Amino acid sequence: MLRSVFLAAAGSSRMERLISSVPVSKGIVQRFVAGAGVDDALRTSRVLADDGLAVSLDHLGEDTLTAEQAAATRDQYLLLLSRLKSAGLTPAAEVSLKLSAVGQKLDDKMAYEYASAICAAAAEAGTTVTLDAEDHSTTDSTLEILSELRRDHPSTGAVLQAYLRRTEGDCRELATAGSRVRLCKGAYAEPESVAYQSALDVDKAYVRCLNILMSGEGYPMVATHDPRLIAIAEDRARWFDRQSDEFEFQLLFGVRPEEQTRLAAAGHTVRVYVPYGDQWYGYLMRRLAERPANVAFFGKALTSK
Ligand code: FAD
Repeated sequence: MLRSVFLAAAGSSRMERLISSVPVSKGIVQRFVAGAGVDDALRTSRVLADDGLAVSLDHLGEDTLTAEQAAATRDQYLLLLSRLKSAGLTPAAEVSLKLSAVGQKLDDKMAYEYASAICAAAAEAGTTVTLDAEDHSTTDSTLEILSELRRDHPSTGAVLQAYLRRTEGDCRELATAGSRVRLCKGAYAEPESVAYQSALDVDKAYVRCLNILMSGEGYPMVATHDPRLIAIAEDRARWFDRQSDEFEFQLLFGVRPEEQTRLAAAGHTVRVYVPYGDQWYGYLMRRLAERPANVAFFGKALTSK
């Protein structure tokens, strides 16, 4: 119930204006978002790197409505990549990109061209790009753009969402040599026609997808905070004899930080997804939808002083 309220709020521009104008909400924003600018992103990446954690940086923003905004987002990524390179943070730092932030909903071709420029800059910086997954209406277009990008930049990563009924098939298609696939549960409000609705069905689908990816030839990126799924992934990695450089765990900045360091200390490759920028509203609403404890924290931040 709360999940659907927050996911509906994520798409409401009225709510966005209201919440974004409440300065006290900064407390909770800081917990999940590294800061507003590229310097904040670099500082956080350095702290995490010192703890033995890799990062994937996301310049926040989605559903770009104008070509100018899309070009500005591309330029932010180009700046980020050149700063990561000069700070010596690559290859441990990569970037995550939402195609909707570079104009996918305006013009697929423009999104491809801007994403391609970002992939080229990532290659120049000695790192790579992963294309985030958004709502199901974008999945076909995102996977088509991925396959075009992979012609020139084969290490470009995909994200697949276990809650979508189609995803087992997509895992089979992508579990091939050289392919990097992040598997997550999925963070959007999706109809029953395309997505499993119960937590149990989503978890079962996650395990089926994990089995396909772990037994395949690609590089699985296991993105979850769920202790049961993390334990199953460790088990499958042992079963399929995958070494620590043949798969990785991924967790979100600010979520279960002690688990991030525990997994790294156990010898796993761990990457933290670090969002930064001032367009934090949609991202924060999805995090609140995931966990009631986050909602209580948010409520406290709004009512205290
Ligand atoms: P949940 O079902 O949220 O949680 C399961 C269990 O994990 C909980 O019961 C609890 O035991 C534990 N847990 C969870 N959060 C906490 C916490 N804060 N403290 C303590 N225990 C906790 N979604 C997309 O749709 N597209 C993307 O591109 C995308 N990229 C992602 C990248 C990364 C690196 C990660 C980690 C997630 C990404 N997601 C993405 C979000 C994802 O789809 C889920 O919405 C999100 O990860 C929550 O699902 P979960 O697997 O963590 O399990």
